[in-house]
Amino acid sequence: MFALQPSHIYMQQVATDKTQALQKLCEILVKDGLVTSEYLQGLNDRENQSATYLGQGIAIPHGTPQSRQAILQTGVRVAHFPQGVVWGENGEIVYLAIVISAKSDEHLQVLQQLTRSLMSDIAEKIQQANQPEQIISLLNAQPPSFMLHEDLIATQAPAFDVEDLFFYNNFLLKKQQCVTSEFHQLLRSDALIHIGEGVWSITGEKYVLKPAVSIVTPEQPLQFLNKTLSMLICIASNDNMDMIQFHHFMDTLFSPAKRQQLQSCQEATEIAQLLGATVNLNWVKRSVILQNAHGLHARPATQLAKLAQAYRGDIQVSVNGGEFVSAKSLTKLLSLGGQRGQTLTLLAEPETDAVAGLEKIIHAVRDGLGEVVEPFVPQNQTKANSPKTTEPVLNLTFDEEISGTPASKGLAVGTAHVVKPPVFNYERFADNVATETQKLKTAIENVQKQLQKLISEAENKDIAQIFTAHLALLDDPDLQHQVNKKLMQGLSAPCAWFEHIDDLAKKQASLDNPLLAGRAVDLRDVGNRVLAQLCGVKEVNEPTDAYILIMDDVAPSDVARLNKNRVAGILTAFGGASGHSAIVARALGIPAIVGAGKRVLDIAQHTPLLINGDTGDYVINPDETQISQAKQARQQAIEQRKQAQQHCLKPAITQDNHQVEVAGNIGAVQVTKEAVEQGAEAIGLLRTELIFMSYHTAPDIQTQELAYRQVFDALAGRPLVVRTLDVGGDKPLPYLPMPHEDNPFLGIRGIRLTLRQPLLLKQQLTALLKASDNRPLRIMFPMIARLEEWQQAKAILDEVRQDYPCENLQVGMMLEVPSSALLASTFAKEVDFFSIGTNDLTQYTLAIDRGHPVLSKEADGLHPSVLMLIDKTVQSAHQHGKWVGVCGELASDSQAVPILIGLGVDELSMSVTSIPLVKSQIRELNYQECQKLAQQALCCTTASEVRALIG
Ligand code: PEP
Ligand code: MG
Repeated sequence: MFALQPSHIYMQQVATDKTQALQKLCEILVKDGLVTSEYLQGLNDRENQSATYLGQGIAIPHGTPQSRQAILQTGVRVAHFPQGVVWGENGEIVYLAIVISAKSDEHLQVLQQLTRSLMSDIAEKIQQANQPEQIISLLNAQPPSFMLHEDLIATQAPAFDVEDLFFYNNFLLKKQQCVTSEFHQLLRSDALIHIGEGVWSITGEKYVLKPAVSIVTPEQPLQFLNKTLSMLICIASNDNMDMIQFHHFMDTLFSPAKRQQLQSCQEATEIAQLLGATVNLNWVKRSVILQNAHGLHARPATQLAKLAQAYRGDIQVSVNGGEFVSAKSLTKLLSLGGQRGQTLTLLAEPETDAVAGLEKIIHAVRDGLGEVVEPFVPQNQTKANSPKTTEPVLNLTFDEEISGTPASKGLAVGTAHVVKPPVFNYERFADNVATETQKLKTAIENVQKQLQKLISEAENKDIAQIFTAHLALLDDPDLQHQVNKKLMQGLSAPCAWFEHIDDLAKKQASLDNPLLAGRAVDLRDVGNRVLAQLCGVKEVNEPTDAYILIMDDVAPSDVARLNKNRVAGILTAFGGASGHSAIVARALGIPAIVGAGKRVLDIAQHTPLLINGDTGDYVINPDETQISQAKQARQQAIEQRKQAQQHCLKPAITQDNHQVEVAGNIGAVQVTKEAVEQGAEAIGLLRTELIFMSYHTAPDIQTQELAYRQVFDALAGRPLVVRTLDVGGDKPLPYLPMPHEDNPFLGIRGIRLTLRQPLLLKQQLTALLKASDNRPLRIMFPMIARLEEWQQAKAILDEVRQDYPCENLQVGMMLEVPSSALLASTFAKEVDFFSIGTNDLTQYTLAIDRGHPVLSKEADGLHPSVLMLIDKTVQSAHQHGKWVGVCGELASDSQAVPILIGLGVDELSMSVTSIPLVKSQIRELNYQECQKLAQQALCCTTASEVRALIG
């Protein structure tokens, strides 16, 4: 962003009228090399369309779009007219003219800054100023402010300690652009102040952009310094804090009665209301993407303000979920600095003409507010084929994007049916143990009957299996025994039941294995069924028209209860693609998106929605064009896949005759056949740890040999690249307990583990050599970071080879750590091949945890630093006549394929379903052009620059 310098301010200018002032301004721009003299026409034309008077004695003259060709450089200049110039349509006097020459939207940030200052009375001070520095400081002045609204409040945060609460508070403040990233450093537990009744506060006075207060409550109250901590209030303060509002807030907080009330608040809106924060509970809300090429600059903003002014009722607007301002105020609109692609959220005051007006305004914004606009297609909608990272389950999702994890394919259109978790009210204690025991017994029996009915009616065996498992859970004698113990302690039936189920579910959810952890949902599901019986909670009525079911996480029984003819699709805030709800949705053929973030629960009932279960994208209030575009895109993708499928067995040869081997990544032996059918020319990565995980104890040599033989048999002579056991980090083996590590990704994982368990490695190598029968076997070791590791692993293999010689063996390594890429020329002398694991290589190069809930999206394998390491690896390998494969997700990323090929990668190995598409993509490519593209990519400085090269 460019900042105003004193040399940009022209003091003590005189003009008899606006025409002369514009003439002067144009001369200034010409003198500073920003425009040619033709720009004057544009300035005049613009004023004739409507005056650019802003308020507070300031005008912002700028040219029409047609005059943009007269602009040489984007810039802003300021002329001070102390005697004033009549400017506005109503005779308003201007003392300061801020003239803009803007090629793009760079000037918006300046304008945003300038217009903020207009919120205070500065006209007189501007007129009287006599130094450029005075003008700059007046324009840069921030009016007093104090932000607290429901988007700065989060409840039920899954927090284990105060650090977690700091994290969430910081996140909320950052997201509302109230603080910079460094603010987090100020949040230290020794600075916490206990206000009373579990409410604590902390104040930070540095790194604050806008004074604000955020509030987070933990899922369960924490204990801190022997006191309860059930709410943490974080105050981000600076000199601009509006002290009147702040004191009012603190007075509320210091009232013990209010704090008592706060204890019972469950929702952010309730807390916000209690503390006098901005809540727009009953206001009608609509969102629209801003499509104007240069954002919400003066012209479209004027248009929007005029439209809003036509209604008596209030209309508020925010950009990307930030602060709401009046849509009727031009200065406030400009202060938002809205840019193309950002979401404008508009609120209309209930029961006023503004509600009807909202529709018109939304249409006007869509139509460009008087400008010709190109539709904005978010990047994540254009990359339908690029692999997506599965969002880990995190109860508090701060994701801004309107997408989630695709869980069940297909498009669905319908109205939102939001089902919030049921509320169970019950007393903690009861007087009569026998009565409570009987109540529980009856409730369990009723649920057993329900489940039996569901099993017998289930159209699908996956669903029947889930309910059979639920039935088994209820039959568990230990479960009943533990709950009975609680009943004997005087707890009421619902309380005893809930506490035990909750305990079990938490233990299950904390298991390291995501698959097992996911089963906590089943426990809660069946638990809630019983609880509903005990508390007399009725099931929610299903709408009669096609709808999109929105829930925090859809439990299996919710899905099974669905009427397939009415539920068009499913959208959940939490959950992963391997969860039961996703499995059931797939089994029923209902398009589904899971883990789309908590904000989906805020979608108003009956709002029209479009969900794309192929890509994970969803659109609120889609228009006909969006629906037909999505349908078209889906149809195209289906067609493309069909075409690709037809030719999947043919080799992948570029237009200029360069062949690339395309192989499959598998984790289960049975999938080999499917891989071959989809066109795999080899198995490029057999993740043997997944085979190990399917056993309760470590498989012995014979068991392993049988499994590997199946793969060889199905490959019918094609090569098999096997990775030795790669556990540790995010992949624990239940029967190989490991001590706790603070940083498991930097700990004993991959080769580091098997070198410490050499018997395990020897057994695996023996089984592989025995199974090969001289068929093409390629063995590679994972996570090699140091030469010594390679040498030790190789020595173990050489020892095993003495007893089990194998003719057709190549020995290589996974290249997943920057150290080994940098030493590639040394390794290249020793190995037969490299296989680049871009998932880990990216994680370790960019120092971003690949599963991080917030950051993992930034771990882009097309980052130039990662490409440089790949380039170095390929060059070193080829110098020594060795081949290189890529087996990370990047290998099937359609934007990465040409670059990887251009860098000289010999083999791409990917999930089986991607094989036909990547092969067909390669057939369209030209190797020489890929080489040029790769060289350009190596010169880029960011991953987005690289992606922009491909378009
Ligand atoms: C990789 O790291 O890119 C890789 C293929 O290994 P995994 O994803 O199994 O760690
Ligand atoms: Mg890896």
